[in-house]
Amino acid sequence: MIIEVKKLIALKKYVGSFSTQCPPPKDKLVLPLAEAAGDISVEGEYEIYEDDSVGITLNISYKLRGQCSYCLEEAEKIVEYSYEALFVTQRDDPDNYYYDGVRLDIAPAVEDAFVFSQPEVLLCKNCAQSQGS
Ligand SMILES: [Zn+2]
Repeated sequence: MIIEVKKLIALKKYVGSFSTQCPPPKDKLVLPLAEAAGDISVEGEYEIYEDDSVGITLNISYKLRGQCSYCLEEAEKIVEYSYEALFVTQRDDPDNYYYDGVRLDIAPAVEDAFVFSQPEVLLCKNCAQSQGS
């Protein structure tokens, strides 16, 4: 999804929210036996600062489906994750995301949120229950 930063500045809409769906990035799955079923839904807020940097808060959710990490039965889990990103117009800033000051593509932040959100194990109902007790 693209945020038209220049346009929003012209309209003085320095803060706002957005929501979108995007397909899960294919080569970004951490668990070998799992896949994201369906799109990732993304809810977010942006804030444009005076130096044209843009703070983004993302809440992503999606369904992870695959084989239970313990017993290999079918398992699925709704994953929800919050992520904050700062987009800046300086290219040589290793801690933040770069955008050109005009249009900002949130995809790299969604991709990272997707990677960080993934659990280390995916458990079926049975295994999840016996873990909890
Ligand atoms: Zn299991």
